[in-house]
Amino acid sequence: MRDRVFLSCPTMHGEEQEFIKEAFDTNWVAPLGPNVDNFEKEMSAYTGAAHAAALSAGTAAIHLAAILADVKQGDTVFVQDLTFSATCNPFAYEKANIVFIDSEYDTWNMSPEALKKAFEKYPNPKAVVVVHLYGTPAKLDEIMAICNEHNVPLIEDAAESLSSTYKGKQTGTFGKFGIYSFNGNKIITTSGGGMLISDDEEMIKKARFLATQARDPYPYYHHTHIGYNYRMSNITAGIGRGQLIHLDEHKAIKKAIYAQYSKAFADIPEITMNPLNPDGDSNCWLSCITIDDSSNVKPMDIVNALAAENIESRPIWKPMHLQPIFENSDFISVKDGISVGEDIFNRGVCLPSDVKNTKEDMELIISIVRSLFGK
Ligand SMILES: *Cc1c(COP(=O)(O)O)cnc(C)c1O
Repeated sequence: MRDRVFLSCPTMHGEEQEFIKEAFDTNWVAPLGPNVDNFEKEMSAYTGAAHAAALSAGTAAIHLAAILADVKQGDTVFVQDLTFSATCNPFAYEKANIVFIDSEYDTWNMSPEALKKAFEKYPNPKAVVVVHLYGTPAKLDEIMAICNEHNVPLIEDAAESLSSTYKGKQTGTFGKFGIYSFNGNKIITTSGGGMLISDDEEMIKKARFLATQARDPYPYYHHTHIGYNYRMSNITAGIGRGQLIHLDEHKAIKKAIYAQYSKAFADIPEITMNPLNPDGDSNCWLSCITIDDSSNVKPMDIVNALAAENIESRPIWKPMHLQPIFENSDFISVKDGISVGEDIFNRGVCLPSDVKNTKEDMELIISIVRSLFGK
């Protein structure tokens, strides 16, 4: 059988090993070291963020952002509903009152209209958390304007959108905090890792402090804060440095994959590609489609047909307000009882968008999907 075709998996190039070798040769294997410092500097240079803290996971970065935004038990936070659970779990760790905000069709991200409505019901949230789903930038101008009007910090979950820009500026750098993920499925990977960015130096210093067990500067172990073991290791950061060199190349390939699917399905009116924000440049992390309700083809028909050929595809993220674990959380949508995110989930599929997809892989995927629509 052919090698399995993945949705998105690690693509290594060789430089990663040189940075790791250097770490071994100098015995900088333990947490921290020159790769960590340099990876932070290189990510700052790439994104334009003033300060960056390399961490063990994107989820750890979101957790520290929650703590630094002073989210405490019972505090309200507005979180995008259509996302992966890691966006909101850290707010559950802090026992916050999570209110989920519906998406809009233009970007699949947080609806500014629904966000406005949420402020009418809950005037004093501690933070707003927006996601740039599948790499497509959210409507940042509108969302920032609402946050600024209410003086509430924005946290950008840019786990999926590293290298995507909005009006020429990198996603992740608009809010008070931005977070990136280097999980194995993301556009670049460190095997596992994340980064917290901010223009506020004090906040990033505090993030590094909290991420290394919150050891106060005393000759003995002294603690005034609850600490975490969230720092990235010097080995892991070496992988990241090697990957960052290839980020723009990965983006170009993913954009070409999106363009190829768009073209291939252009004559099938029941298929719509996931949206790209015309005010931005998406990294096209995953190419997704939605299928019109009028079609007999359902998302799982595509997933199963591709699986039969050893090709991975998946449904769209299931909205958080539909998750059993968050059934007691409030959900705000523009029209009560109508959830845009749920509709996208019901009709959507993520297609293989791996940097290593060959011409033959793409042709096979396209022909399998087309044939389901009688083409
Ligand atoms: C991957 C992902 C995360 C979590 O990142 P990890 O590095 O795996 O902890 C958070 N939010 C979104 C939207 C993601 O896709």
